[in-house]
Amino acid sequence: MKKVITLMLSLMLCVAFMTGCGSSDVYKVITEPTFPPFDTTDENGELTGFDMELMQAIAEDQGFEVEFESMGFDALIPAIQAGNADIIAAGMNAMDPDRQKKVDFSDYYYDSGLVVLVKEGNNTIKSIDDLTSDMKVASQIQTTGGDKANELAKDGKIKEAVILDQFDTCVLQVINGDVDAVIIDLPVAKSYISKQPGKVKIVGDTLNAESYGFAVAKGNKELLDKINAGLKNMKDNGTYDELYDKWFN
Ligand code: GLN
Repeated sequence: MKKVITLMLSLMLCVAFMTGCGSSDVYKVITEPTFPPFDTTDENGELTGFDMELMQAIAEDQGFEVEFESMGFDALIPAIQAGNADIIAAGMNAMDPDRQKKVDFSDYYYDSGLVVLVKEGNNTIKSIDDLTSDMKVASQIQTTGGDKANELAKDGKIKEAVILDQFDTCVLQVINGDVDAVIIDLPVAKSYISKQPGKVKIVGDTLNAESYGFAVAKGNKELLDKINAGLKNMKDNGTYDELYDKWFN
């Protein structure tokens, strides 16, 4: 009898080992952390934000683990394409057709749009229409804001698109007067305004409509299904709303 029980236990352990139950997959989540409140760092320099905590909640719900790593925004999609990371959580517009050719996006988790940010006290620029061919406009490399700034420069509507690696530097440059405006996502503009009240202000209407999604490698349906299922559960059980209240109010 003892031998039978030992044999059964050994078989169960082998099955558990082979099926990986008891151990969970670990996915690398990448972001660019000058995009508060979605993707930022805490007082200890640790990655945090709405994106990070929503992805962590999705992971726990779906039985996988995540580890976070930051890099330049322009490095995010190449990292997924090269197989060096598994998920982008970076306030990334999932509606962009060029991106859709390179990665697959989850269901949308946040609806946003671009705005123009200027220095407090600037009464010349009241909307994007007041930008002139002697002005410089900053935004972040390979983002929808950067694309808009490049488009304005190409069309001769501004003198120069100043394309930088990080949004906090863009905001600093408009405060210092090095550039005349920044094109940036509305919720992120609001976050920078709340961090530095009286320094910068939003002018004009929202320039476009964006919906953010988490990105995975083309064809990785298994992971995408997990993310979508977890996202739905977080919306259904109130976790999404709790995180939204924490990071946006
Ligand atoms: N939402 C913008 C985009 O998708 C900016 C994203 C970001 O800077 N993290 O390009």
